[in-house]
Amino acid sequence: MKGHIAKKCVRRCAQAGRKCSSRCTRYYYVLDSTPDHDGKRKQTWSSGHRTRKEAEVGLAEELQRRNEGIVVSSGKITVPSS
Ligand SMILES: [Zn+2]
Repeated sequence: MKGHIAKKCVRRCAQAGRKCSSRCTRYYYVLDSTPDHDGKRKQTWSSGHRTRKEAEVGLAEELQRRNEGIVVSSGKITVPSS
């Protein structure tokens, strides 16, 4: 699982010929999951954050949660055979 930070304008400044200010941009973290069996790559977008820092913190926390989840789900569970 990987992730990156994406920046988006919520006011479409580029279309209006204006420059973006810090007030109209939102930062998102995007989770890139590895392709599944049919080869499709899935991206999961977070909700918007006001600063890049907030998005980075959110991404780090999300990745940690996922890593912990993966450890649990793919752990070697020994089923006793009777
Ligand atoms: Zn803008």
